[in-house]
Amino acid sequence: MERLKAYKFRLYPNEEQELFFAKSFGCVRKVYNLMLNDRIIGYEETKNDSSKKRIFPTPAKYKKEFPYLKEVDSLALANAQRNLDKAYKNFFRDKSIGFPRFKSKKNPVQSYTTNNQNGTVALLNNKFIKVPKLKSLIRIKLHRQPKGMIKSATISRHSSGKYYISLLCKEEIIELPKVNSAIGIDLGITDFAILSNGQKIDNNKFTSKMAKKLKREQRKLSRRALLAKQKSINLYDARNYQKQKRKVARLHEKVVNQRTDFLNKLSTAIIKNHDIICIEDLNTKGMLRNPKLAKSISDVSWSSFVTKLQYKADWYGREIIKIDKWFPSSQICSECGHKDGKKSLKIREWACPICHTCHDRDINASINILTEGLRIKSLS
Ligand SMILES: [Zn+2]
Repeated sequence: MERLKAYKFRLYPNEEQELFFAKSFGCVRKVYNLMLNDRIIGYEETKNDSSKKRIFPTPAKYKKEFPYLKEVDSLALANAQRNLDKAYKNFFRDKSIGFPRFKSKKNPVQSYTTNNQNGTVALLNNKFIKVPKLKSLIRIKLHRQPKGMIKSATISRHSSGKYYISLLCKEEIIELPKVNSAIGIDLGITDFAILSNGQKIDNNKFTSKMAKKLKREQRKLSRRALLAKQKSINLYDARNYQKQKRKVARLHEKVVNQRTDFLNKLSTAIIKNHDIICIEDLNTKGMLRNPKLAKSISDVSWSSFVTKLQYKADWYGREIIKIDKWFPSSQICSECGHKDGKKSLKIREWACPICHTCHDRDINASINILTEGLRIKSLS
């Protein structure tokens, strides 16, 4: 089986390269917005999926009007068109996601995507990378070796001022050998995840400390914004505000990177060690749980964790079984099956009145999730 995998690395462009990137981001944005504008006009005329009836101009058309577009990688412009096509089609499939929006210079991440055509994107000596249209080599920090063939590369600049390149590589993968193990996972708040084998995966280490710090710095940022306002200074000119803004952006990036790293390692370990993984269907779980508890962070992490589990399961020939969100995983005694009724979140341990087993609330829930998952599997 083939899989596509993205590898993300830091780039250290020199001044000339930074200029080239800035120009590329700007041109991609320009083409995207021009095309979007044409689409909006088309949409207003027909109120329909006009992409089927109208032929929209390609980036080539705009090059006549805006000759500076020729100075950047034409594949980047073509990809901008593809992205817009995709966003446009998605909109007609599901209007609730909203009409594609204009790209702004103010977006915290600026990026463009190009493709590898016979080595136009290539690593050199593991220290440099080349990309189309740029003559000089860009310094790259290769903290791991990408496997497979590079298909495309996305270059981005974050508001922290850091540059990254994400290489999408096509790789042959071999399914993992069966290990004859199934596991149930309960996603929690105090602990990130609780496994039916009794293992609890701590949440605090990677989020709460950093999240607290981030919150503190964000408060400082709003204070500085207020201060600038009181002095009638434009935020763009408020040096202390801008300095703090970069600090918050760097911190935020760090939190996101740490979380991604944690979720990658955890999902890989689970997929490696188990053939069948049973997990609650997440859709509205966040809302069912206590909304006051560190909600946004856990929500994002949970859904991203389940996504990672799902695609890794597909790669390695594992099976994910999703349990109905209404399944009362914390009400059932995993030992005798007695249904003991609803329990408030405060109750962390309880004893079954029938078989007298003492339960840790979350471990018991994850065992029930496993049992239910295996039951569902036996029916199919
Ligand atoms: Zn019992």
